[in-house]
Amino acid sequence: MLVAERICKSFPTRAGDLTVLRDVTLRTDTGQAAVIVGPSGSGKSTLLNILGTLEPPTAGHYTLDDQHPFKFSPHELARFRNQQLGFVFQDHHLLPQCSVLENVLVPTLAGHGPQAAAHDCEKRARELLQRVGLAERIDHRPAELSGGERQRVSLARALINQPRLVLADEPTGNLDQHTAERVGGLLAELPREHGVILIVVTHSIALADRFETRYELSDGQLVPRTSAAPASGA
Ligand code: ADP
Ligand code: MG
Repeated sequence: MLVAERICKSFPTRAGDLTVLRDVTLRTDTGQAAVIVGPSGSGKSTLLNILGTLEPPTAGHYTLDDQHPFKFSPHELARFRNQQLGFVFQDHHLLPQCSVLENVLVPTLAGHGPQAAAHDCEKRARELLQRVGLAERIDHRPAELSGGERQRVSLARALINQPRLVLADEPTGNLDQHTAERVGGLLAELPREHGVILIVVTHSIALADRFETRYELSDGQLVPRTSAAPASGA
């Protein structure tokens, strides 16, 4: 279970402290997803970066399966990120010189895992690539793929180490509607299929509407939303 309690985040700026998150509380069970919408600049990436332990909160508590990542040493934190978190970004961040299969295997190279045999990792990578519909593309370089295919590679990469939590920041932000639908469909199935917690940040209403649990980040706070569609029809 993910528990974020009363998370606050301020950035020091020349004009004084800029408060982006005020008492954000979020709980999500394993096998469940939460989607967070909100206008540009509302703090969505800031919140995701905290949940991804890329940045500490100014105040508040955060636990994943009763672990306190912000109390870890740098080495423990690196291991935690590698073993328990999966990241999907708006830009896929694939390595251009590596094949699709090699890109999916990158997180297994950190040496943090229980010494999984290389061929077991490769077997799992092939299965994940099959699941996202890329079995025929494993030897391609990222430049030889469409935007949607690249994003599906990054989904497989996020899952390779069997994480507890997957964080996706505008995962369909750079995709056309048709491609976004396919990636959105895969994302929506991910929590139950892989037994992970999924937190998605997006300004796509179509993507947000795929998930039952929705919040809007507004004025630095998370407000539950019944539908992702704009309330006033604006
Ligand atoms: P979103 O992802 O919702 O578009 P962000 O979380 O990226 O929003 O940013 C929220 C606000 O915090 C913005 O006003 C942004 O300029 C500010 N911000 C983000 N990171 C920093 C930083 N490292 N230093 C100062 N301000 C920041
Ligand atoms: Mg953002």
